[in-house]
Amino acid sequence: MNQEDSVSRRQFVAGASSLLLAGAAARAAEKTGSSQGSQLAVHGGEKAVKRVPASQRRWGEVERKQLEAMLQQNSLFYWQGPQTELLIERFREVCPVEYVQTCSSGTAAIHTAVAAAGIGLGDEVITSPVTDIGTVIGVLYQQAVPVFADLGKGTHNLDPADVARRITPKTKAIIAVHLTGNPCDLDVLKTLADRHKLVLIEDCCQAWGAKTRGRPIGTVGDIACFSLQNSKHVTCGDGGLVGSNDERFGPLLQKFGDKGGNRRKWGGFDAFATNYRMSEPQAAVAAAQLTRLEEIVTKRNRLGTLLTENIADAPGIIPHEVHPEDRAVYWFYFFRLRPEAFRCGRSEFVKALLAEGAGVRGGYIGVPLYGEPVFQNHGFFAGRWPVKEMGLTTMDFTKHKCPNAESMLTEGIRVPIYEYMTEDYILDVAAAIQKVARHYAA
Ligand SMILES: *Cc1c(COP(=O)(O)O)cnc(C)c1O
Repeated sequence: MNQEDSVSRRQFVAGASSLLLAGAAARAAEKTGSSQGSQLAVHGGEKAVKRVPASQRRWGEVERKQLEAMLQQNSLFYWQGPQTELLIERFREVCPVEYVQTCSSGTAAIHTAVAAAGIGLGDEVITSPVTDIGTVIGVLYQQAVPVFADLGKGTHNLDPADVARRITPKTKAIIAVHLTGNPCDLDVLKTLADRHKLVLIEDCCQAWGAKTRGRPIGTVGDIACFSLQNSKHVTCGDGGLVGSNDERFGPLLQKFGDKGGNRRKWGGFDAFATNYRMSEPQAAVAAAQLTRLEEIVTKRNRLGTLLTENIADAPGIIPHEVHPEDRAVYWFYFFRLRPEAFRCGRSEFVKALLAEGAGVRGGYIGVPLYGEPVFQNHGFFAGRWPVKEMGLTTMDFTKHKCPNAESMLTEGIRVPIYEYMTEDYILDVAAAIQKVARHYAA
């Protein structure tokens, strides 16, 4: 490391808030410095990452106790079930909203939100093309049309300017996906939604515990959706939650998640909906898991922030871009390569990182959602798409283009972040990225 680098790093560190952080960054600087000029592991050199932390069990005594309490009950049905009530109480500490419905998945939560928002035949819903397909399944089932907008180059979230360009008289909602747990630019999206009278739905499935300008994720938009699927920050195997503070939508969530019937005031089935209920055993595990959430997300935020601090000055690297006043919870970390800055392609870069012992992966999902065969064929319902056949949309997914979303998937690298990882491990990963980037720099 040359003098100039270490000075700028020291200045950078001086801006950081905790002493601990400063010490860690300095250690990374040493590691980076010592690995500079050394041979890449892929060429027979020493590995930058020496030890991979062992994964930890994600459940134990708290979950066991909750399940035992549940077994004292004579009903495992969700309605007024003590486990469901406990889960909702704890969920409200994370996302303080008045109306909450537990459900069977994040996909179910989003479908329930879309239905409660009154989205139907031919309506357009603008969202991200790089997300779990569950973001748009409910949109399509309501016979509405997903319209994909492009993403910010470093945030990997909706670019509000491109969202604005795609608003038409048919647009009814925006689904803001907080990808990887990095909050979307919600203030701008909310202003846009209000100006055009659109419902703003937040897909918080990867963003448990995230905060935007100090506010809990899920509380800026009109409806919030969370997943408890196995890969998320907290889980009961499969499950979800949908919530709202809005009097227009909140009171409808229960019936749209439960066959169209209102259990508070029975009046028969005045709405049509499917069964997305969550049972008490799932609620018991999820309620117990929520007691672990703050620790999990504090750690993941810390590790992701540390990685950014230690790769920010690597040549040709675009680190994960997080607003300085936001709390990103890193479901994973994602950085991009500037292709022109390197003498190698992404696959060679990834291969070199793997050889260094950093367990990274190229890209995220294979292609943006509109590139998937079911979209390219417009074949959502037994191979057909009624909305298009009826002439209610001119959408042609074979002509859809989101350049940044596409390049994100071909130029980006995903770094797993888990709460059991140590800061030293992340510093080693940062050193590996620095070493490989410097080696291949054009
Ligand atoms: C996981 C996920 C979903 C779907 O959640 P499931 O519980 O798997 O149905 C939706 N959106 C995003 C961003 C997700 O990560």
